[in-house]
Amino acid sequence: MNIEKILPFAKNLLNKAVKPGDAVVDATVGNGYDTVFLAELVGESGQVFGFDIQEEAIVASKERLKQQCLSERVTIFHSGHEHLSHLIPDIYHGKVSGTIFNLGYLPGSDKTIVTRPETTIAAIQQLLEIMTPEGIIVLVVYHGHKGGAEERDCLLAYCQQIDQHTAHVLQYQFINQQNNPAFIIAIEKI
Ligand code: SAM
Repeated sequence: MNIEKILPFAKNLLNKAVKPGDAVVDATVGNGYDTVFLAELVGESGQVFGFDIQEEAIVASKERLKQQCLSERVTIFHSGHEHLSHLIPDIYHGKVSGTIFNLGYLPGSDKTIVTRPETTIAAIQQLLEIMTPEGIIVLVVYHGHKGGAEERDCLLAYCQQIDQHTAHVLQYQFINQQNNPAFIIAIEKI
């Protein structure tokens, strides 16, 4: 298949925006796969700020980072991403070059603990304040679970009204696949 699939597309966007030494955010740490990806992208001199509301996710991701000797460049907050601008130290404000969200529930865990439209949108609003121009927010939107359609619709409505002088907003989606395939919303701050 020549058309890029959803997850490689997401990673490529971050690859373009993030340089070694940058500060970045994993807004939904989960099992820590994206946290590891971001930690490798920013390198030894960079900084990753991760957020998750579940203890289980924090423990699993810290262990994964430890095994890969990446813990020193990552700070994980046991907190919702809607508090990110208070928790990320001021010295990084204006310097965050990349953020990823994987919406939905933690695979293999409690499917009732899901990301929610109001907190996801609050986090995006804060990110648009603290990111650097040309910084990219990538949202991988899973929407097949209970509450997923509501989050998708609120998010799309919010993203469509972001002023075009504030950010470029892209939707990347396969439109003929069955079973609610995930899609991407990418927001590049201007
Ligand atoms: N990126 C993860 C990985 O690589 O394994 C998967 C993330 S999973 C789809 C979504 C995660 O978002 C869950 O672990 C869930 O606990 C977390 N979550 C839900 N609401 C949140 C919030 N307000 N702030 C931060 N994380 C949240």
